[in-house]
Amino acid sequence: MQKKIISLIIPCFNEEQNVAQAHSHITTFWKTLKYDFDYELVFVDDGSRDSTVLEIEKLAKKDSQVKLVQFSRNFGKEIATTAGIQNCNGDACIMYDADLQYPIEKLPDFLDKWENGADVVVGIRDKKKTNNFVEKFGSMMFYKCANLIAEVEIKAGALDFRLMDRVVIEEFSKFTERGRMTRALIDWLGFKRDYIYYTENERFAGEASYSFDKRVKLAFSTFLSTSLFPLKFAGYLGIWISIITGPLGIIFAINKYMLGDMMNWNTTGATQVGILTAFLIGINLMCMGLISLYIANIHTEVANRPLYVVKNKINLG
Ligand code: UDP
Ligand code: MG
Repeated sequence: MQKKIISLIIPCFNEEQNVAQAHSHITTFWKTLKYDFDYELVFVDDGSRDSTVLEIEKLAKKDSQVKLVQFSRNFGKEIATTAGIQNCNGDACIMYDADLQYPIEKLPDFLDKWENGADVVVGIRDKKKTNNFVEKFGSMMFYKCANLIAEVEIKAGALDFRLMDRVVIEEFSKFTERGRMTRALIDWLGFKRDYIYYTENERFAGEASYSFDKRVKLAFSTFLSTSLFPLKFAGYLGIWISIITGPLGIIFAINKYMLGDMMNWNTTGATQVGILTAFLIGINLMCMGLISLYIANIHTEVANRPLYVVKNKINLG
């Protein structure tokens, strides 16, 4: 029987100081595994401006298990991981950062869970040791909002350190949307999941390039790709404004013009105009909401996701 192959997907952006280390780290560790699996290291160069590609080419010359997908420019980590997944040959793949922040010692845990039948094994990171308030607060808000509106649960700390079985790789490769968050798409796919827990290492060398503004952009594209709520927000707001101001306006008008201000509210003309304006804004927003429903439909059609994902078939071709 052929040995199973595990593909390690390693996105690299300016990681010249890390790729050789990552390679030796993984190869050394692999020898200690109880599993007799083959492996390949799929490096994806995401348009590095340093000598990352040269370093990978050097490795590939002496080790045929080293593969390279080189981008023409920087497309971002999400796309780089996607390219790695689409181009790998493994029976399963594991995403691994070039900076060695994911503890390699956890690899056996991923493989154990996979051997026990999990299709997706998700690494959950302990709370990040950061003192940066903006980062902490931003991340908390992101998960709160995302879970409020997303169609699938987004777990805090469930980042890209994950294993995917070949069946999931095949389904994942069918996604065509551009603005994407790899892990959110994997979550959307479902399948049998299991979890492992890990603590992140310090970055081996260099600086993190996944900058703050890249993260903010990613957060937005996650909101847009996992939920249609932002689009429908205007509509909901409009409904609430109209529900509140409509009856309020009527009550004020009855009180003033029919009951001769029986309630002694002394409403001024400005109050009436204010309520009327708010009511009209509400109607306006509701109409925008209606248009949004159509745009939401177009958005879903354009993303062109598979209608459903089949896990297994029996007695069918
Ligand atoms: N990365 C990439 N393209 C980018 C930014 C980052 O392929 O535009 C890679 C990077 O080389 C690393 C991984 O994604 O292997 C994680 O990036 P980084 O360490 O900068 O971010 P963090 O550890 O803060 O998530
Ligand atoms: Mg990192």
